[in-house]
Amino acid sequence: MNKKKIPMVDLYAQYQSIRASVDKNIGMVIKESAFVGGRFVEQFEAEFASYCHSKYAVALNSGTDALFLSLWALGIKAGDEVITSPFSFFATAEVICRLGAKPVFADIDPRSFNINPDSIKQIITRKTKAIIPVHIFGRPAEMLKIKKLAKKYGLAVVEDACQAVGAKYNNHLIGSIGDVGCFSFFPSKNLGAYGDSGAIVTDNDELANKIRKLRNHGSLVKYQNESIGVSSRLDGIQAAVLLAKLPYLNKWNQRRRIIAREYTRLLGDCEEILTPKWDVDRTYSVYHQYTILVKGNCRDGLKEHLSKNGVSTMVYYPTPLHMLVALKDRGYKSGSLPVVEKVCREVLSLPIYPELGFENIAKIARLVKSFVMNNRTR
Ligand SMILES: *Cc1c(COP(=O)(O)O)cnc(C)c1O
Repeated sequence: MNKKKIPMVDLYAQYQSIRASVDKNIGMVIKESAFVGGRFVEQFEAEFASYCHSKYAVALNSGTDALFLSLWALGIKAGDEVITSPFSFFATAEVICRLGAKPVFADIDPRSFNINPDSIKQIITRKTKAIIPVHIFGRPAEMLKIKKLAKKYGLAVVEDACQAVGAKYNNHLIGSIGDVGCFSFFPSKNLGAYGDSGAIVTDNDELANKIRKLRNHGSLVKYQNESIGVSSRLDGIQAAVLLAKLPYLNKWNQRRRIIAREYTRLLGDCEEILTPKWDVDRTYSVYHQYTILVKGNCRDGLKEHLSKNGVSTMVYYPTPLHMLVALKDRGYKSGSLPVVEKVCREVLSLPIYPELGFENIAKIARLVKSFVMNNRTR
């Protein structure tokens, strides 16, 4: 019946378009045995810092470690509170807990899915040390208001830019606006390696140095361990893949924006569906996900209908962070954060990746509309 399933992402199609440079770069790493750290990692750090308009980039094992080492380097410790969004991947809150600090959640804006600055203001206490805005789905958070609050109360701003590489706020690259920006190059992210990897960017010399030291067992010079750290260096092969891909990132992000615009054009007049708002507040969104809100309790039905017709979709995220089992007994219960809890019941992410063709976008939109229409008459 269906020729070919439409996936959420198609990393092999992307590989085919850049195969020659990826293969060549990986070959060089192997030839030089530059497997951990080394010249390819250093070159990637230089190019990535420049891409983000930041002074320093430090390459790491993962986006999770980027967040963890940033908070650690900033001195976050037991007894501190860190404010963040409950609408994110678990790692954002997990790293706060790993340092013994307490994650405190502000509710989100129901249309941008990002942390609501007014909600942040209400939960700042004397124990608050930092804010982690998450630029969810590639859409920049309201950095102007967040920075103002941070300045007023003396808080650090750690950007979770894991989904937003290349996004802009007020013409500033996301990640370069707070004290430190954290990126993930997990394979399916907008800039993805071929395994786990991540990075931080910052303009702060001291912070960059601390994180560089922490990622390598507390040492900058071999066998001179000055502090306790972790092992979170980047592999040469991952750096080689990222170096091959970085020149295409802007083009891929533009393509994602064109796809998002086409979805919105096709679905915008559908009453039961709320499409993401196009760049509001001087933002340039990079659509890591294209996520709609499905009204009237029929999100799961729509998901099933699309699946039956060969279209993959995902629910990012089914459970807000404060409701996860791992974070129970931290003072939250069902109803604590009503906006995010409702959003989690209505969100559905549709396939989006640079290689997705217009005929498939049209097919997906047709299926969404036919489901909604049928539901209406029932
Ligand atoms: C992917 C992601 C992370 C974690 O990155 P990893 O590289 O998988 O460790 C953290 N926060 C957000 C918002 C993410 O999307």
